[in-house]
Amino acid sequence: MTEDVKCPICGSETAIRTVVKGPDTGLKFHVCVRFPKCKGRIPVEKDSELSDLFDSKETKEKKVAMVSGRNIPLYIILTFITCGLFSIYWFISLAGDIAKLRQKADPNGLSDYVFGILTCGIWTLVCYYRYSKYIVEIQEKQEAKVNDISTVVLILGIFGMGIISMALMQNELNKLVEAH
Ligand SMILES: [Zn+2]
Repeated sequence: MTEDVKCPICGSETAIRTVVKGPDTGLKFHVCVRFPKCKGRIPVEKDSELSDLFDSKETKEKKVAMVSGRNIPLYIILTFITCGLFSIYWFISLAGDIAKLRQKADPNGLSDYVFGILTCGIWTLVCYYRYSKYIVEIQEKQEAKVNDISTVVLILGIFGMGIISMALMQNELNKLVEAH
């Protein structure tokens, strides 16, 4: 039996077991004493901090899996046939994907979009720049190839080619998501 670690499914006691088969072979888990009836288990971390327990390998993978790539040519076509309306959804979704990958509440696409209208588009340009910097931050965190497109997307935005800025940022996000 182990001290305070309870089964995450049924709340029973757990015992430390080493996995002997499957993809997790060699990893240690606090396994529910009701195993195999109950499949509840929590990975044993070296420094066994609570935050680490909950930020296990599996949850990290789930967090990444919540964001999926978006079809850039389709999104461009949809933007054109809706006279730009679709780009609102795209902008807000892109900001949401960045926030998820950063595991933070910022950026908030909806408020950035509204503030963009209120500032006659100036804030939107700032967002293109900011979002690209966030993408760099995610690339560094994931140890992926860093590609800083912030200046390019800002200049494209200034010249009214925001849709290309969106496509470039989406392309970087797609690369990050597909790498997993
Ligand atoms: Zn259990």
